[in-house]
Amino acid sequence: MADGSGVDHSNSKGNTGGDEEKNAMRSSWGSLAKVISIFVFLILVCFGGIAVSKDKETTPITKPGAVNKSNSEWKKVLTPQQYHVTRECGTEPAFSGKYYKNHETGMYKCVACGKPLFSSDTKYDSGSGWPSFWAPVKKDNIDEKADKSFGITRTEVTCSHCGSHLGHVFDDGPKPTNQRYCINSSALDFEKKDKKQESGKTTK
Ligand SMILES: [Zn+2]
Repeated sequence: MADGSGVDHSNSKGNTGGDEEKNAMRSSWGSLAKVISIFVFLILVCFGGIAVSKDKETTPITKPGAVNKSNSEWKKVLTPQQYHVTRECGTEPAFSGKYYKNHETGMYKCVACGKPLFSSDTKYDSGSGWPSFWAPVKKDNIDEKADKSFGITRTEVTCSHCGSHLGHVFDDGPKPTNQRYCINSSALDFEKKDKKQESGKTTK
């Protein structure tokens, strides 16, 4: 046994030199292959992710009066800022929007599809730098869903007719609802009251 193992040992020792190189070669090829496969995997994940998020844009809304457009169609009818906010869930910088200081009487409509969303009757100065309302003009015209981006749980507000991102709603608003709809000016189109004579038409 001792002899055998000795012979074996010396034999294997002789081979080990060659094997070691081969093993080294093999392991370097192996690790190279691993690196390549990881890269391929990452590329697939990235492109897969992009493909998925691009598809996500056109989740159709099926409710009556819904406005469904592709990203390229939205880009044609919205400014880059409006597109970023409404279709990419962007947020305009605080105190930068055109409506946060607007005190005129009228209706704030969805900039993308024109549905009436918020009345000036419920607008108040929250000091946040974004137009703030304590209620939507019609609950049915907006959708609210949990938004867990940036590690914070908030409630996202979207237009229920076209899916445009509008802003978020918080529970620190004034009476009677105690809600604060914090909405981007870029997602809104204000219509002054005198133009709104046909008030029956506004809540379609
Ligand atoms: Zn809309």
